[in-house]
Amino acid sequence: MQRGTFQLMKSVNKSIILNKIRTSEPISRAQIAKETSLTPPTVSSIVKELIDQGLVRESMLGSSSGGRKPTLLHINTNAFYVIGLDAGPESVKCILTDLTGEILERTDSQLATPLTNEEFIKILKNNIHTILKQSIIDPEKIIGIGVAMHGVVDVEKGMSLIAPILNLRNIPIKDELAKEFHLTVRVENDARAMALGESWFGGHGNADSMVAVNIGRGVGAGVVLNGKLYHGAQGIAGELGHMMIDLNGEICECGNPGCLQTFVSGTAIEKRAEKHLKEKVTGKEIFEYAQKGNQAYIELLKETGKIIGIGLTNLVHLVNPSKIVLGGGVMKSERFIIPAILETIQQRVLSTEARKTEVTVTKLGDDATLYGAVSLLLVELFDPVNNIG
Ligand SMILES: [Zn+2]
Repeated sequence: MQRGTFQLMKSVNKSIILNKIRTSEPISRAQIAKETSLTPPTVSSIVKELIDQGLVRESMLGSSSGGRKPTLLHINTNAFYVIGLDAGPESVKCILTDLTGEILERTDSQLATPLTNEEFIKILKNNIHTILKQSIIDPEKIIGIGVAMHGVVDVEKGMSLIAPILNLRNIPIKDELAKEFHLTVRVENDARAMALGESWFGGHGNADSMVAVNIGRGVGAGVVLNGKLYHGAQGIAGELGHMMIDLNGEICECGNPGCLQTFVSGTAIEKRAEKHLKEKVTGKEIFEYAQKGNQAYIELLKETGKIIGIGLTNLVHLVNPSKIVLGGGVMKSERFIIPAILETIQQRVLSTEARKTEVTVTKLGDDATLYGAVSLLLVELFDPVNNIG
């Protein structure tokens, strides 16, 4: 049935209505017609189809000024389920959610290198099998598996091309998982998946352009334009971590000098602490010292914020997004970092209007990437523009 669902969603009007219900539920047929400019008969007949398919359900909770209460429509959250995986570099996490992203089951495993492609695939499969065993839902209702994969991904082939920290190449994730579970499988780079998840679940309304930046062990980003991930001509759009900001800077893992990542990733901050403060500390300790009021560490984090602000200023000049959302381990120190970011953008961005670009920290926390994995399937179900067949 999985593929059937996607086929049925290939009607634009149908997914407009489905998405309207998702974002505005509970909502009446009349209200949908009003807000989508579709005619009431079109809305009625499509809603009937969606109810027959089990995607939408009715309730009688509407209010009216006398007479019959209008019937309201909701997404039937238990109609279908999605499996999401956050894969690498340090662990594999797996969840099962309903259509609203409510997490019903979860499991995870640590990754130890060295690792072969076969071993890596086996860990992914084991996690999914564990989830399926734990869960009491009907497996027929699972519409697919979304994988947010560390490193460079070929989205069309569903293949991990380079997983640098795991030291693996050319892992046929989609083929292997589809063969094992007979489900639709989507694979995307983890930072990009996170960006999509942020636009889907992050409560940002209809932001037409958004960039989500993950600052952790590395720096990754995803650009979402009109609800769709932007990959660029060769699939490397959004590689913000490798934006070069110092011609004579330290050599990055990519081989170029002075990438943003060599200044602001978790490891880069630890290195700066060692160099300037002559102390060997973990990122977590840096945050704790700053919180206790240690001025040297507060300054270190402020400086980090300033450098991130320079990277984001470049980003604003290039993409001019309506919103920038930050996530990842480094942002746990947001209290010390965010003011410096905002100040830098305020000082450096060219136009007064763009200086007000909204910069926030994700509310999805450590699960942001997992929600991203799940959203890879949901965008296809709810929006045919994203349907890659
Ligand atoms: Zn680099």
